[in-house]
Amino acid sequence: MRGFKTIKKQPTQPQYEVADVLNVLGSRLEDLGLNSWQLRTLSALKKCRTSALGGHIDACDECGNISISYNSCRNRHCPKCQSKNREQWIENRETELLPVPYFHVVFTLPDVLNKTALHEPKMLYDFLFESAWETLQTFGKNRGLKMGMIAVLHTWGQNLSLHPHLHCIVPGGGVDESGTWKNLRSDGKFLFPVKALSKVFRAKFCEKLKHQLSLKLNENQREKFTENEAGNYEKLRQSLWEKPWVVYAKKPFGSSKSVVEYLGRYTHKIAISNGRIRGIDDKTVTFDYKDYRQKGIKKQMVLSHEEFIRRFAMHILPKRFVKIRHYGFLSSTWKRIKLKNLQQKLGIQPKEKLPPKVFQPKCSCCKVGNLVTIATFDLRGPPQWFLEMSQSQPTPKK
Ligand SMILES: [Zn+2]
Ligand SMILES: [Zn+2]
Ligand SMILES: [Zn+2]
Repeated sequence: MRGFKTIKKQPTQPQYEVADVLNVLGSRLEDLGLNSWQLRTLSALKKCRTSALGGHIDACDECGNISISYNSCRNRHCPKCQSKNREQWIENRETELLPVPYFHVVFTLPDVLNKTALHEPKMLYDFLFESAWETLQTFGKNRGLKMGMIAVLHTWGQNLSLHPHLHCIVPGGGVDESGTWKNLRSDGKFLFPVKALSKVFRAKFCEKLKHQLSLKLNENQREKFTENEAGNYEKLRQSLWEKPWVVYAKKPFGSSKSVVEYLGRYTHKIAISNGRIRGIDDKTVTFDYKDYRQKGIKKQMVLSHEEFIRRFAMHILPKRFVKIRHYGFLSSTWKRIKLKNLQQKLGIQPKEKLPPKVFQPKCSCCKVGNLVTIATFDLRGPPQWFLEMSQSQPTPKK
């Protein structure tokens, strides 16, 4: 398969990729102490759009140009496999919009929990989702309203460090007992006081952690759970009360349509996009990041191959972990019927969910024609006729 690297990266494609770092890292990857799920994910990313996954040969229905593409891995952690899912997701959410103000709220875990997040990511991230939702629900209930929320988990900070936080899109009101919509505020300010939200959020989270600890101690695990560990747990629990927790509310959105576009930017984001990688040499990886402690100025960070991949792997979510969740009147049980009624009451025509769009790639040669697949192949490589044809023909002009 060597010598068949005829596909040059398109000018719009990033020059460097996470996969390139994995390639230079080679077998040193095994020394990083990653679990088998992380290794499997990284292996998928490494093979994405290479001959290892096979591919297809397409013809343009306009200019007749024949081109070859390798299959993508479709892994949700892959920097190359995000945009398609994102578009579909945005389209589906657009059918669920209400003509009401929306808010963006971010719930962040303090960094004293980072170690626990690495060891028990599922537990901790589940608690994050639950605590955020229970917090909003509590405030809504005080006003007699059922709330709704869409939440997306991000686990990273700008420099690939661990920084678990939840982006939540919250409609600025709720449904009362009679099923009628009520706006919570009319002055455009955030729904609830952020300081109060932070306090309730922390209390909910700590309560869950405490409960989990008592379960651990009761489940005949006393022997396994050494005194030392119990002490550490207790120390951790106490440190959670030392610093204030941060709940951040951004300004409301202009229109409800912009909400979904905006949220789409967060839903299918991963720890680092390939476009941020500026260089890879035989020892290090250089990438751009924004330093939010200094007003978000752009800086560059240099890490060893090992450290870069170790950090990247911290953001590989547990198998089947749901990272986008819908709550309250935006949850799937509600959505089917009641949300449509609500939309009608608010004077908008409910839209039907569209069937998934067939992805129709455009020809890179003439830019207008659609590509039609004329042959597929597996990891053994493209068919003989294609190889002969591509050898006898000059490569098509760019
Ligand atoms: Zn991929
Ligand atoms: Zn984020
Ligand atoms: Zn064409």
